[in-house]
Amino acid sequence: MHTRTLAELAAALRDGEFSSAELVGHYLDRIETLDARLNAFVTVTREQALQAARSADHARAHGQAGPLTGLPIAHKDIFCTEGIKTSCGSRMLDNFVSPYDATVVRRLKAAGVVMLGKTNMDEFAMGSSNETSWYGPVKNPWDLNKVPGGSSGGSAAAVAARMAPAATGTDTGGSIRQPAALTNTTGLKPTYGRVSRYGMIAFASSLDQAGTITASAEDAAMLLGAMAGHDPRDSTSAEVPVPDYLDALGESLSGLRIGLAREFLDDGLDPGNAAVLEQALDVLRGLGAAVVEVSLPNIGLSVPTYYVVAPAECSSNLSRFDGIRFGYRAEDPKDLTDLYKRSRGEGFGAEVKRRIITGTYVLSAGYYDAYYLKAQRVRQLIAGDFQRAFEEVDLIVGPTTPTPAFDIGAKVDDPVTMYLNDIYTIGVNLAGLPGMSVPCGFVDGLPVGLQIIGNHFDEGRLLNAAHMYQRETDWHRRLPDGFSPEPA
Ligand code: GLN
Repeated sequence: MHTRTLAELAAALRDGEFSSAELVGHYLDRIETLDARLNAFVTVTREQALQAARSADHARAHGQAGPLTGLPIAHKDIFCTEGIKTSCGSRMLDNFVSPYDATVVRRLKAAGVVMLGKTNMDEFAMGSSNETSWYGPVKNPWDLNKVPGGSSGGSAAAVAARMAPAATGTDTGGSIRQPAALTNTTGLKPTYGRVSRYGMIAFASSLDQAGTITASAEDAAMLLGAMAGHDPRDSTSAEVPVPDYLDALGESLSGLRIGLAREFLDDGLDPGNAAVLEQALDVLRGLGAAVVEVSLPNIGLSVPTYYVVAPAECSSNLSRFDGIRFGYRAEDPKDLTDLYKRSRGEGFGAEVKRRIITGTYVLSAGYYDAYYLKAQRVRQLIAGDFQRAFEEVDLIVGPTTPTPAFDIGAKVDDPVTMYLNDIYTIGVNLAGLPGMSVPCGFVDGLPVGLQIIGNHFDEGRLLNAAHMYQRETDWHRRLPDGFSPEPA
């Protein structure tokens, strides 16, 4: 069952080939057998999942099934789930049971989707390797010594090993696209505001966006349709109608103008990754698209800009974790100040503290103009670069990451090297654009992703390009050795 895409599983449920209870049971068994090697799940909700699957089967028997009814999915542990631990990968929230569902969770549940569990992630989504999690690193199913990427590394590893056919993720600077690239999965980060952030634990509010990690672009289109749309509970969610994303699939790429950003082909790009990218461009050309060069002159400033804006917003968002209202509380405090200090000191890990300190610094009097305000100005320049490029082309392509997956432990003590992993993805968040990563080949046995970037709210065109590419190639169908067999 698990070698099929979500769309294929939906068809099998519709045709009565198996029930949702059987399907969900199969994935739960895979998690039980395989996850000890990967550490992709923080929580597995077996009983609730089986119960929800039986309800889905009941609904289907009574003619009340929708296109997603009975399909299993895993949620990144950043999404609040009613009555279930929502840790955000942090000791701070290790004891937090959410009293409500995030809008993403609620909408998918209403569409009949069955939650298998909650996936591991970098602490508060800060990281590119899943090594900052309180629950320990996630392993890459393609090589257990390598990172799966981050921060949605648990979701990516779960889908790559087909312990779930699909998963949710979030992307502030690359956290869906980068792990998708490193695990041979399809990652979609929609336009900022396309999907509600309500109930998604905030890291950097002007950059955070929910999306999907799936086995195909078609699967992403299925899920996005159910997740997207205006939410009165999120004032930054857009009042833009949600098109039928599946309807947009299948359109010829003939005449499509695709821009290759010159600045993406820099010295940092591994020659193996560059060669794989070249082959992917040939496939797109073969499908009728015209690939032309475009320039994003300020894109080189995106990593430093991001590391001012994101920490600034994080320092403000994470002030709510004070040992009183949520989560971890230090034992035997001397007084209130000691309670605050030790709860935060003991509850947060090193990377989160580094961000809070940086963010507090760049927002403080005397430094605000020099750092935060300046970063906001540069952010506008980067967004302007993309807008100028989109006057010439319909989509922009480039690599998702500079290299394939790196060794666990290789970069964890060197934050700046770690930050540079997102060099090709971060600009997209600063500009609020939708982006995808699509499997496009292997370097030394490790998967590589093709990044495709669209204009605001142009997810339909983006998904169609990815879908047409996947009709022509089978990279996305490849599964890691040792994780494809049926569980015993
Ligand atoms: N790796 C980047 C960071 O550490 C992006 C993370 C994300 O997109 N959540 O901030």
